[in-house]
Amino acid sequence: MSTSSGGSLRGLREANRARVLQILQSGPRPQVQIAAEAGVSPATVTSLVRELVDSGQVVVAPGTSSGRRATIVSLATQPPGSFVGVSLRRDGVDVAVWGRDGARFETATWVGLPEPDQPIRERIARFVARLLPEQAIGATVAVPAAVPLARRETIVLPPDYPLAEWLDDDAMVPLEQVLGTAVTEKNDANLAALAELRLGAAQGLSHALYLELSDGVGGAFILNNEIFEGDGGMAGELGHLQGSEHGPRCWCGNRGCLELLVGADALLPGLRALHPGEQITLRTLADDVAAGRDLARRIAVEAGRDAGYGVAPLVQALNLSTVIVGGQLAACGDPLLSSFTETLSHFSTLVGPRVETRLASLGAPAVALGAVVDAAARTGLYSFSELKLG
Ligand SMILES: [Zn+2]
Repeated sequence: MSTSSGGSLRGLREANRARVLQILQSGPRPQVQIAAEAGVSPATVTSLVRELVDSGQVVVAPGTSSGRRATIVSLATQPPGSFVGVSLRRDGVDVAVWGRDGARFETATWVGLPEPDQPIRERIARFVARLLPEQAIGATVAVPAAVPLARRETIVLPPDYPLAEWLDDDAMVPLEQVLGTAVTEKNDANLAALAELRLGAAQGLSHALYLELSDGVGGAFILNNEIFEGDGGMAGELGHLQGSEHGPRCWCGNRGCLELLVGADALLPGLRALHPGEQITLRTLADDVAAGRDLARRIAVEAGRDAGYGVAPLVQALNLSTVIVGGQLAACGDPLLSSFTETLSHFSTLVGPRVETRLASLGAPAVALGAVVDAAARTGLYSFSELKLG
C-alpha cells in the first residue's frame, strides 16, 4: 500500500524485491547475474539485497563468478509460517490463512459479534489461532471503518456504531499475543479491492474505481496497479459523497449522502411489503430480484441509478474507464448493474462512449482474502499466482 507521493516508486521497489526473491527460488547466484536476470541496475540489486539481508530473507557469501570475486546471494532457510487475514464484520468474523508452503484458504464466521469484553476478544484470538497450522509471519485485520494512516488520530464513526469499542487501542492485543506478530488494521473496502486487483475482477487493470455496496457504502481507488490511500489513508470513503442535495440529513453533517440513498437502511424498508413480519437483509433483496419480483427489481434499478450518479464525478475527474462493483448488493446482478452503468455513462461523458462496469468476482471472502494478500505483500514473500482459492 502506498502514500500519495512516491506510491508508484515504492510499488516498483516492492515489485523488484519480489522479482529478486523469485529469481533466487531457482538457486543461489552472483549479484551481477541477478541484476541481469531482473533487468535492473547492479546498484539497485545491491540495495535490494541489503534490505533482504536485513529482513532475514536472503544470505550472502563471498564466491567467484567467471573467475572473478563475486557476492553470491541465496534464499535464507525460512521457518514455515502462515499469513493471516481477519475480517471484522458487523455481524461476525472471517479468517483467512495462507500457508507459505502452499495454498490454503479458510474462512469461518462468528455470527453476532457480542460486546467486546476481554474474554470475547481472547476467544476470537483463540478462534484465529486454531486455524493456524504454524507460526504467523504477517497479519492484517480488516475493519468496516475508515482507518487513518496515523492510527486512530482522526477516526470518525457514526453514532451507535456497533464496532466502536473494537477500534480502541487495546482491541488487537490478544490477537497479537496469540499470533506472535504485529497486526496491521486497514479499511475493509480497500482490502476487498486489493483482493480483486491481485486475484479477481480487477486483475491486469492499471486504474479502476472499486465500489462496495453493502449495508453501508465504501470503495477504493486502484491507481497505477496499487490501492491509493490518500495522504491520510482515508481515500475511497465513498459513502458520504453527495448523491442528492435534497436527500435526508446524515450524521456526518451533510445531506443526501450516498449511503443514505443506497445503504441497507434506505433500501430494505421498501421491501417490507413483500415480507411482512420477516427479518430481511440485502440477501433477501437479491433473492427477490432473482425470483423476478417487480418491487425488488425496481429497488435495485433505483439503487444502481443513485450509485451511478454519486460516483460519476469521480470517474470523470480521474478519467477512469472501469468500475468494479462489489458488496452484498452486487448480488442483485443485472438490474442494478445496467442502471448503474447507464447513469454513470450519462454523467461522465468525457471518459468515453461508455464506462465499463464489472461485478466483483471474489464474493464475500474478498475482504479476508485481501487482508491475507496485504499481510503477505508487506513481507515480500509471496507470489499471488501460487494462491489458490477453495
Ligand atoms: Zn454522510
